[in-house]
Amino acid sequence: MSKKTRFAPSPTGYLHVGGARTALFSWLYARKHGGKFVLRVEDTDLERSTQESVNAILEGMTWLGLEYDEGPFYQTERFDRYKQIIQQLLDQGDAYYCCCSKEQLEKLRAEQMARKEKPRYDGRCRDVADANQNGETVIRFKNPDEGEVVIHDLVKGDIVIANKELDDLIIARADGTPTYNLTVVVDDMDMDITHVIRGDDHINNTPRQINILKALGAELPEYAHVPMILGDDGARLSKRHGAVSVMQYRDEGFLPEAVLNYLVRLGWSHGDQEIFSVDEMIEYFDLEQVNVSASTFNSEKLLWLNHHYIMHSDPAHIAHHLSWHMGNLDIDPTEGPDLVDVIKVQRERTKTLVEMAAASAFFYKNFEAYDEKAVKKNFKQGSAEVLQKLHDAFTQIPEWDGEQLHQIVLDLAETMELKLGKVAQPLRVAISGSSASPPIDATLSLLGRGKTLARIERAVEFIEATRSE
Ligand code: GLU
Repeated sequence: MSKKTRFAPSPTGYLHVGGARTALFSWLYARKHGGKFVLRVEDTDLERSTQESVNAILEGMTWLGLEYDEGPFYQTERFDRYKQIIQQLLDQGDAYYCCCSKEQLEKLRAEQMARKEKPRYDGRCRDVADANQNGETVIRFKNPDEGEVVIHDLVKGDIVIANKELDDLIIARADGTPTYNLTVVVDDMDMDITHVIRGDDHINNTPRQINILKALGAELPEYAHVPMILGDDGARLSKRHGAVSVMQYRDEGFLPEAVLNYLVRLGWSHGDQEIFSVDEMIEYFDLEQVNVSASTFNSEKLLWLNHHYIMHSDPAHIAHHLSWHMGNLDIDPTEGPDLVDVIKVQRERTKTLVEMAAASAFFYKNFEAYDEKAVKKNFKQGSAEVLQKLHDAFTQIPEWDGEQLHQIVLDLAETMELKLGKVAQPLRVAISGSSASPPIDATLSLLGRGKTLARIERAVEFIEATRSE
């Protein structure tokens, strides 16, 4: 039978790192086995689910390139089906109405605690006739009393739970709406999910879900519970560890392939290999190599991977992402050199696209002010003369060629008997506003004649004005 996995987020926030990793593992597993990947939005918690969050999750999946073959399905559109199954369970005698009040349940709990027993619903309404139902009635699943549930977890190995540890789960609330465990079971069954890959925070639900599936005569999926992700301080990864939303990584200048590569290594390994293209991930991924223990988030490593991909990805692909960041700086990348050429000279010196965009802005748009330190260090008494001479020579050059321009800089340093830095650095500050830019030949060539000459003129005026103050 062909394999089918799903990602089933609850839309109560953004797509966070843990969710994205679960989605990636499920996606990889389906892709590896030529199966299908389903996106299912578990939006039954009407108070906490928002459309904004649905959009954020879809946006995150798209940005990462985790395309789904079926869906998105929305559980709120499937209430009729859940009702039908709840009715079936009632008819079969596998579910029953429970009219215990909150006070009764609290009393029961207190008594069990006093006897040092594990608090659980004792099934007292199991044999009470339906006639007892009133507005406050919930429906519970009649969990088997005897025997045990065995989960052959593909990550954690066999897990055995005695049925007497499990109480009768509420499957429909008093208002008739189905609960989480019921909807998951119905969907996994109806959608023919063969492999449930999810966070191990759901492991306590699994035996309950298995029992309901069995009552429905459904085929059981395989389960793989992936361990949680910890922050570098050992606590569960959360907002206070920095970015946990996938889209925040985009905003901070990460490439999706770097994030994917980072996520795949969070809890999975293939020998010592660190760098994986998506094709390699698909080829090598399997659930057996998923770690049993929690993995720790390491921002340094993510940054290292990002730099790797900035260095090695196709510049045209990087340009697609970089232009988005340029847009954030109000820059129109068509008003200057081809982004691909800019990337080629900037990639070595920048670890994120945010840095790259900031360092490349001067190619497209005049900077507002010079970097103060750079001015102090490089705009000296004689700098205006140096820049004027460069301007004169640059004006005469027939073809705007980086190498020839560089030669002019070298020659001028020689004829004026100046160290190269006394010529090249004022020029760099003049054209880029700061003392750090790519090599001068590439910078001049990319900036072009018009912008270069205008900025040298601006710098000469600036130096003369400040020097005469
Ligand atoms: N909706 C659940 C969550 O977001 C996941 C349920 C599942 O994967 O079975 O945590």
